[in-house]
Amino acid sequence: MSDVRTCPTCGAKAKYKLIEEKETYTAVQEEAVFKKISQLKKAIDKYKSKAEALEKEIQAIKSDKK
Ligand SMILES: [Zn+2]
Repeated sequence: MSDVRTCPTCGAKAKYKLIEEKETYTAVQEEAVFKKISQLKKAIDKYKSKAEALEKEIQAIKSDKK
């Protein structure tokens, strides 16, 4: 589990980590936004490949009619 603390520089809730004896704070909200964005990107990619598959089907139907 992550250690959520209050960031000393901005006062926001942040994930606290000790990396190479250096205290680091990662904004929780920022991380949530990044997660959301990557989810949306994945969804878009899914729809893109679906659209491309449909496009190919349409092209196949069109060329069949020739
Ligand atoms: Zn901060």
